[in-house]
Amino acid sequence: MSGKPKLLWVNVLFFVITGLFAAVVVPWYGFVEGYDIFQVVAALLCMGFCGMSITAGYHRLWSHPTYKTKPWIRVVYAIGGAFSIQNSALHWASDHRIHHRYVDQNDKDPYSAKKGFWFSHMGWMLRDYNRETYNDYSNVPDLKRDPVVMWQHRNYLKLVVLTNFGIPFVIGVWHGDIIGTMLIVGFLRLVLSQQVTFFINSLAHYWGSQPYTDKNTARDNGIVAYLTYGEGYHNYHHCFQTDYRNGIRWWHYDPTKWFIFTLSKLGLASNLKRCDEHKVAKAKAEMAMKNLNEKLRFHADAEEIKAKLQAKFDELVEVMHQTKIARLEWLEAKKCEVREAYEKSEAMKRYQELKDAMQQQRDEWKLLLAQYA
Ligand SMILES: [Zn+2]
Ligand SMILES: [Zn+2]
Repeated sequence: MSGKPKLLWVNVLFFVITGLFAAVVVPWYGFVEGYDIFQVVAALLCMGFCGMSITAGYHRLWSHPTYKTKPWIRVVYAIGGAFSIQNSALHWASDHRIHHRYVDQNDKDPYSAKKGFWFSHMGWMLRDYNRETYNDYSNVPDLKRDPVVMWQHRNYLKLVVLTNFGIPFVIGVWHGDIIGTMLIVGFLRLVLSQQVTFFINSLAHYWGSQPYTDKNTARDNGIVAYLTYGEGYHNYHHCFQTDYRNGIRWWHYDPTKWFIFTLSKLGLASNLKRCDEHKVAKAKAEMAMKNLNEKLRFHADAEEIKAKLQAKFDELVEVMHQTKIARLEWLEAKKCEVREAYEKSEAMKRYQELKDAMQQQRDEWKLLLAQYA
């Protein structure tokens, strides 16, 4: 006896069979019969549909309610989630909330990265690790009230079969080569879309930087973001999980964020949540200071430099705080009809001045960091 929970043979066989089809049968058929551009584009589109249903739906809508959207969009996500075969949204979100709450705690985090890369990637699905808690959905009471989530949960298996055979079959009939389309849009699309989302639990906890926190294993990595529809900014995400964005800069590759933003512009999504930018900046500055303090350990003037850093950090935090208050006051003055125009312009002026002062403090802070880095 190994002492490990028993193997879940259905899952093991599922991954082995779909993996063999994708790795052996798909290339063999391509070699013998060939695929055309129509089939490749159909597979890519279906892969995008699966991926975005998981990231925009399962993850950023249901696991962390970072925005609201129309029922029919939720139905589309529910269908895409079943097409991805990643369990029902209810189950996925429940697991994911536990992952955030107990991240890296081997006895609680269902895909703890501390149990190794393989375990967090796929190993956690191969054995009956959570037998006692498998049907415990007490941490998703909000989702139990979502009729779309519950409809998908009740009909999950039917939806899996319908989407995974139905969609490739219909595209195959349209195209003419049913077997080839079933292989590439069915099997290859499924295996690839699963593998890239599995990277969020494995690679995004192993490879990359930790600009916001080192209290858990989550990393920020632009390359992982390319593979995972923007979920690669995982260090930020574990720190600020109520934000609908994972890549917060405009140049960060986060198609899920752009998609949700576009939905909101079309009137199909609302209540998009963003984390307080000063909190984010403070977390980043704190982390940078911590890293630098670590580096300075053996520096001759370590104490003096640390004091200088601390003073600059305090100044920066103070000006950020003041700017935040000034901004709120300005917004309040703007809203209030009885306030004099003079008062409004004074509030705006003060906010603008503090914003400039904050930018200056930020530049000085960066310069100081660069000097000792
Ligand atoms: Zn998350
Ligand atoms: Zn994570």
